[in-house]
Amino acid sequence: VSLGDERQILARIAAMAPAPRNSGVVLGIGDDCAIYRPTFGEELVLTTDMVIEDVHFRRHMHPPEAVGYKALARGLSDIAAMGATPRFCLVSLAVAGWVDEAWIDGFYRGLCGLAEQTGTHLAGGDLSHGRQLVCDVVVAGSVVAGEALRRDGAQPGDILYISGTLGGAALGLHSQQGEAWQRHTHPVPRLALGRRLRELGVTACMDLSDGLSLDLQRLCLASKVAALLAEEVPVFPGASLEQALHGGDDYELLFTAPAERALPGRLEDVRLTRIGTIVAGDPGVVTHRGTLLEPLGYDHFRQQPSDS
Ligand SMILES: [Mg+2]
Repeated sequence: VSLGDERQILARIAAMAPAPRNSGVVLGIGDDCAIYRPTFGEELVLTTDMVIEDVHFRRHMHPPEAVGYKALARGLSDIAAMGATPRFCLVSLAVAGWVDEAWIDGFYRGLCGLAEQTGTHLAGGDLSHGRQLVCDVVVAGSVVAGEALRRDGAQPGDILYISGTLGGAALGLHSQQGEAWQRHTHPVPRLALGRRLRELGVTACMDLSDGLSLDLQRLCLASKVAALLAEEVPVFPGASLEQALHGGDDYELLFTAPAERALPGRLEDVRLTRIGTIVAGDPGVVTHRGTLLEPLGYDHFRQQPSDS
């Protein structure tokens, strides 16, 4: 993409950006900065996620719309996990030599479609070049001050729940077809569910991005507790128990609630399943049916079993 095209590209991106309805953004794309006007009693929650060619997607496997959609969906899932409402996002994209204008348009179509659906205003960003494609998406959400759902609030005796089913994204990455492929390419951020869980007073919450075994360990470490996975983990149809326990990219919510607070089996059209109990013990230790559950989920800084 030559530099001369940049203004045109920016104009097309701005045209795709959803109108700032009630997002709090009073000045969007086009000036040196965007302006966000907070309302009284609100707190901002902020998250940033990178998408890197050959790490998070492969250009011959993932269409540009799917790459753009998921680049935003991952941040929105974090906003959902905090029980917050998305307000705006900032998108920086460095394109590689193989990228053409059609790819850039597809990427922003996917991203802006999800932004529109979720009331997230594309408030700004940056365009550049690189040896491989790298994208970074910052998402800001708002929540009533002091009420964001955090991962450090789980207490011994709390019941452990997850939304939906697990392992679908791992199966989809492997099979590249059907509903499972859709799960891998187009995960649905649980925004409405996250807000309801906050209203219902859950004690800790996080989204499952790197696999249950690893993310549950993180929640337990943050809360300084241990966990017993005693019940059946709901597995995506066709996926293995391994994929459900260790597969990443499901973007379901993992949360805890006091035992005396009965939660419904379904909320905001999503199934909720009780999978275990929080207990006192060595922080971060997770036991699954009597044996230690190794945190084998995805960790960028640890050698993966398949690498060795
Ligand atoms: Mg997260």
